[in-house]
Amino acid sequence: MQITLAETAGFCFGVDRAINLVYSLVNSGEKVCTLGQIIHNKQVVDDLESRGVKTIESIDDAPDGYKIVIRTHGISKEIIDELEKKGIPYCNATCPFVLKIHKIVSSYDENTTVLIAGDANHPEVIGIKSYCKGEAFVFKNDKELLELAKNENLSEKSSLICVSQTTFSTKEWKKCQKIIKKVCTNCKIFDTICNATSERQLEATELSENSDAMVVIGGRHSSNTCKLKDVSAVNCDTFLIETAAELKNIDFSNYSKVGVTAGASTPSGIIKEVLKTMSEVKNEKEVETTSALTEEVVETAETADKAETAAVEASADGEASFEELLNASYAKEDNSKVVKGTVVRITPTEVFVDVPGRKQTGVISIDDLSAEPVDKCEDVVSVGDELDLVIMKTNDEEGVQRLSKKLFDSVKGWEEIVAAAEADEVLEGVVVRVIKGGVVAAAKGSQIFIPASLTGVSRNDSLDILKGTTVKFKIVDLNKDRRRAVGSIKVVLNAERKEAEEKVWASIEEGQKIQGVVKSLTSYGAFVDIGGVDGMIHISELSWNRIKHPSEVVNVGDSVEVTIKSLDRENKKISLGFKKVEDNPWEIIKRDYPVDSVVKAKIVNFASFGAFANIIPGVDGLIHISQIANTHIKTPSDVLEIGQEVEAKITEIDFDKKRISLSIRALLPEEEQAPAEEETAAEETAEEETASEEAPAAEETAE
Ligand code: SF4
Repeated sequence: MQITLAETAGFCFGVDRAINLVYSLVNSGEKVCTLGQIIHNKQVVDDLESRGVKTIESIDDAPDGYKIVIRTHGISKEIIDELEKKGIPYCNATCPFVLKIHKIVSSYDENTTVLIAGDANHPEVIGIKSYCKGEAFVFKNDKELLELAKNENLSEKSSLICVSQTTFSTKEWKKCQKIIKKVCTNCKIFDTICNATSERQLEATELSENSDAMVVIGGRHSSNTCKLKDVSAVNCDTFLIETAAELKNIDFSNYSKVGVTAGASTPSGIIKEVLKTMSEVKNEKEVETTSALTEEVVETAETADKAETAAVEASADGEASFEELLNASYAKEDNSKVVKGTVVRITPTEVFVDVPGRKQTGVISIDDLSAEPVDKCEDVVSVGDELDLVIMKTNDEEGVQRLSKKLFDSVKGWEEIVAAAEADEVLEGVVVRVIKGGVVAAAKGSQIFIPASLTGVSRNDSLDILKGTTVKFKIVDLNKDRRRAVGSIKVVLNAERKEAEEKVWASIEEGQKIQGVVKSLTSYGAFVDIGGVDGMIHISELSWNRIKHPSEVVNVGDSVEVTIKSLDRENKKISLGFKKVEDNPWEIIKRDYPVDSVVKAKIVNFASFGAFANIIPGVDGLIHISQIANTHIKTPSDVLEIGQEVEAKITEIDFDKKRISLSIRALLPEEEQAPAEEETAAEETAEEETASEEAPAAEETAE
C-alpha cells in the first residue's frame, strides 16, 4: 500500500498562531480561558485543559483573574464591545483572514445588503454578520442562494456585496459566484475563502482523484475537516478519523493507494501517529510522501524541511552557493529575497522587523525563528538586532510580509555542516527530539539524525536523558544531494576519552596522590575514575578495619583522594590505595595510648587463657586470666560478659607483634590483690606461656 500525505495537512497559519498564543500565555503564568474551544480538536483542548486552561461559553462565565482568549473564528462585535465596556482582559486570536472579512463588511453602510456564503450557525459567520451595518443573508449552497435571490429580490438591491466564510467549499463557491454574477449583476464579490483552506481542498481533491481511499484526520466538528471529507468522498472511499486509534476500524486490504490529509486544526503529532500506525499496519511497506512530517515517521532522519529539500533538488550537484540555494528554494514564493531587517518589537509569539525599502510590516513567527524549540521570542532576539532573513510570503492586503530567520540559518548552516563534515570537525547541537531508533539534534539551523547506537547512551538507559541537552558530535554520513546528515556523539566521546587517557598516563606516577570519583564497586574492591582512566582500590586497601564489602567505606559517585600504589603501563592497570597512614590504629595507639594508661575497652572474645577487649576500632588487647580479678577464676566468663565495658590498664605494647596486654587487676586496690597472687602464682606462669603462643588473635583485627 502506498500512502501519500498531503503537503497542506495540519495546522494552518491562523490556528498555529492562536495555539501558540494560548501556550505562551499559560507558560508566562497567566490564567487563561477560551471563549468556546480554541480549536475543534479534542486532543489539543484536553492538553490545554490539563494545563489549567478553561473553556467558557459566555464572557460572564470567565473566572476572576482569567484572561479570555478569542479563538480564530472571531466573535460578534457586541461581545467585543461588552468586553471593552466591562474592562474584562482578553487576547484576540481571531485569524487575520477573518478580521479582513469583518473589515470589508463593516466598511459598507446600512444601505448595503451583505450576502455571506457559509454556515449560518458557524461562529465565524455569526461574527461576520454582527459587523454588517445593514441587512445580511447567509446561504450555504447554490440552491439556497437561488431561493434567496427570489425571496429577497436581490437583483433590485441598490448596493450588494458578497463574502464567504473562510472555510467555505471552493467548489460550491465557484457555482455560487456564477449565479451571483448572473442574477445580481450589481453585486460586488469578495473572495474571502482562506488560501490555506482552498489549497487544502484543492490538494485533497487531486489526491483523492489519484487514490483508492482517503483518510481525513481532524475533529468531527471542524468545518474545514468536514469539507475535506466531502471533497474527497466525491472521488474515492473516504474515512474521517480523529486519532490513530480509529484506524483499526478500517480495512485497508482492498486499497493499494491511500491519500492522507488533515484539517487546519489537527496537530502534527496526531498526523504522525496516524501515518506511523498505517505504515505498521501495512507491514512497513513504503510510505511515499512529499511532506517532512512523514519523513520523520519513516524515520529516515531527513534534515531538510520542504523548502530546504526544494533548494537542494534545484541544485544539481549540491555544491551550489548559499545565494543559489536560496534563490532556488524561494523563487516560487516571493522572488526569493534575502533581506536584512532590524527588530523593532517583540511579542511572545511574533517578532516585528523593519526591512528597509519594504512597505509591509515584516513579521517572523516564533516557529520561523530557530530550528531549536523556542519558548519566547525574546529568548532568541532583542529589539535592535539586525537579522538576516528570507522573505516567505508577502500579503499586500494584510500589509504583512512573513519572514524566516530559521530558513536563512538553515541554508547557511548547511554549508557549515558540510564543511565541518569534510574537515572531520566536531559540531555542537541541542537534542530536540527522541524518535524511534535515535535522536534528532538541531545544529546550525539543520536537524541531524543520531542513531541510538551512536549516541553513547547505554542500551539500558532511555534516550530521553539526552532531550534538551547540548551534545557534541561529528558527521559520519552525509548526503549533500538530499541534505541528510547522520551524526555520532560516540566518536566524539571516544576521542575525548582517548585523549584524557593519554593525558592521565603521561602525568601519573607511583606514590602520587590524586582525586578521583568512584565509578563502580565489586566484592573485591572499588573502581575509581582518576580523570579518564580507571584504577582499582583493593578491598584491603579501603580500610584498616576488616570490612565485608567496599560499600561499607565508599559509594558510587563519591569523590575520593587516592594514592597510586602501582602502575602497569603495559597492561594499563592502576592499583590505588585509599586508607591513610594517620588512620592506622597502631599509629593512634602509639600516639594516644602509652603503657600504663587506663582505657575503657569492650569485651569481644574469650579464650581459655583470658579475654580479648577492643580498645579502638581495629585493635584488641588481651586481659590474661590472671589479670581479670584478684581472686582465682576458672574461666574469664565466670566474671566477664561479651559486650561488657571494662576499665583496664595497658601493661605492655609490642608494636612489632602488634600485641597489647591489659590488666583489670592492676587497677584493683593493693590489699585486695595479695591473696589472689599467692593462690594463683603457680598457674599464672604456666598460662602466660600458653597466652604468648596464642596471643596473635589480638592483632588480627588490626590487619
Ligand atoms: S483556515 Fe485560514 S482563516 Fe481559518 S484560521 Fe486558518 S488561516 Fe485563518
